[in-house]
Amino acid sequence: MSLYDNEYTKDIVCPHCGYAWSDGWELGMSDGEDERIDCRRCEKPMNVECQVSVTYSTKKIEGAE
Ligand SMILES: [Zn+2]
Repeated sequence: MSLYDNEYTKDIVCPHCGYAWSDGWELGMSDGEDERIDCRRCEKPMNVECQVSVTYSTKKIEGAE
């Protein structure tokens, strides 16, 4: 348990200080992978586990009907 909302979040959220990494995708992690990183703000180590969920969007194609 942690003070911060750091599970199943869109951004990587540091469990120590709550810093949110809006560019977590830059780590290039894939589904189910976990990695140890140091927080950019408090510099404490944390374990990040990546959960990828797939979504689909559709739209009509102009002129193809
Ligand atoms: Zn931190």
